[in-house]
Amino acid sequence: MTNFTRREEGELVYYAADGLESTGLVRHGFSTRHGGVSRDALASLNLGFKNDEVSSVLENRRRFLTALGLDPARLVTGQQVHGTVVAEVTARDVGRGALRWEDGFPATDALVTSLSGVPIAVATADCVPILYLDPVKKAIGAAHAGWRGSVRGIAQAVVTKLRECYGSNPEDILAAIGPSIGPCCYEVDERVMIPLQDNFPFWRRVVEPRGDGHWFLNLWELNRQVLVAAGVLERNIAVGELCTSCQVLDFFSYRAEKGFTGSLAAVIALKEDNKKQL
Ligand SMILES: [Zn+2]
Repeated sequence: MTNFTRREEGELVYYAADGLESTGLVRHGFSTRHGGVSRDALASLNLGFKNDEVSSVLENRRRFLTALGLDPARLVTGQQVHGTVVAEVTARDVGRGALRWEDGFPATDALVTSLSGVPIAVATADCVPILYLDPVKKAIGAAHAGWRGSVRGIAQAVVTKLRECYGSNPEDILAAIGPSIGPCCYEVDERVMIPLQDNFPFWRRVVEPRGDGHWFLNLWELNRQVLVAAGVLERNIAVGELCTSCQVLDFFSYRAEKGFTGSLAAVIALKEDNKKQL
C-alpha cells in the first residue's frame, strides 16, 4: 500500500491515500497550498489560524472540507504542542476547534473517534501527518508527528488509543503517512539524534550521516518503523513520499520558507452509516 492520488476540484488540489479510499468507509484528504483565498506567504489554502485573517482561514477550511464532502462546522482539532497526547473525540466535542484554535483539545497532537460524519484533522507544515483507519471496528485517527512527536512515539500512541477505546487489533489498522519534509531536505543535529538513538534500536536505518555532526533524518521511515513495532502490518502502511520542502510550490514548508508559512491539514471522517439514513 504505497499509492497516493492527486485530486483536483477546480483550483483546489489535495492528495488521497488509495488504501484508505478503497475501503469506502472514510472521506479524507491531505491538503496542498492550492485553491484558497490567503495571500503572499500564506497563498493560498492556509488552514491554520496563526498568521492569517480568521475569515480567510474559515473560507479555506470551508472549501477544503466541502470538496471532501464534509461539514466544516463539525471539524475537530487539537492545540498541537509536539507531544504524544491522543484525545478521544466524543459527541460533545463535535466542532471543537472549527472556528477558533483555542477551542481545540488543549495540548493534544492526535485524535481518534468512532463517530461518523465528524472530521478530525491535524495541521502541519513539514511535520508528518498520519491518518488511521480500523475498517473492522470502524474507528479513525489523525496524528501530528514532528521530530519531537516522532521520537516520542506518537504514531504508536494512536495505535494504543485505538486499542483502548475501540478494541482495535493493530493488524487491521491502515495508516497513511502524508506530505511532510523528506529525507532529502531534513537535516538534523545531536539535539534530535540523542533522543532518537535513546529510543530506537533501529535508528541507523532512518538517518544518513552528512558529516560535521549533522544527519539527514527520514521521518517517513521513522514513523513507518514505529507503526510496524506497534503491530501495524507493513502492507497496511502507505507513505506518500511527498516532500513539502522540495515541493514548496505545492505545499507549505516551515523550513523552506524560513519559518513564516501557512498550515496544511490532513483530515479524515468516517462516512455516515447508510442504514441510519434509510
Ligand atoms: Zn526534499
